[in-house]
Amino acid sequence: MHLNTLEDVVEFLCGRDTGDSALDARESQAPNWSDLQYVLRTIRPSASYPRSPIPCRHCGLTSSKAITSSSNTNGNAGRPYFKCPTMGKFLVFADARGNDLTNPVCRCGLSSKRIMSGLYTKNPGKLFYVCRSGMCEYNRECRDAQGEHVIVGWEIVDYLAWLEII
Ligand SMILES: [Zn+2]
Ligand SMILES: [Zn+2]
Repeated sequence: MHLNTLEDVVEFLCGRDTGDSALDARESQAPNWSDLQYVLRTIRPSASYPRSPIPCRHCGLTSSKAITSSSNTNGNAGRPYFKCPTMGKFLVFADARGNDLTNPVCRCGLSSKRIMSGLYTKNPGKLFYVCRSGMCEYNRECRDAQGEHVIVGWEIVDYLAWLEII
């Protein structure tokens, strides 16, 4: 499915048997993005994220913290993240975005982190799940209730980032 409107996003969030009747109730009242933010904050608190540098899963050394460029055009501007101290390889974003507790479990046994492929990749706008602690190589495509890959429309990327859906 493609996420291009608020209605698409609500359908996506409700389409996984999460029991979020609050989202459906809001839908009947011509909801807006702020309503959705209220509902998400109330019923879906984000899972935790690493606050201090993690060991790099490639070399074992303590990772270094960095911030993405403010000119990043993939909805990721100014995000803190951890990277390998020797190779500079990206490990994980150090924030709560995408840390939906209902996401599938990674190899560490934790709920995963929802992320989006950038505009200039081979899968622009596609959603994936990765390890939110940065400790394993978990990477799974995000699919809707019909098994279709979920793809974000560029016009709503900023909303989804603001709502911490991605
Ligand atoms: Zn490393
Ligand atoms: Zn993991």
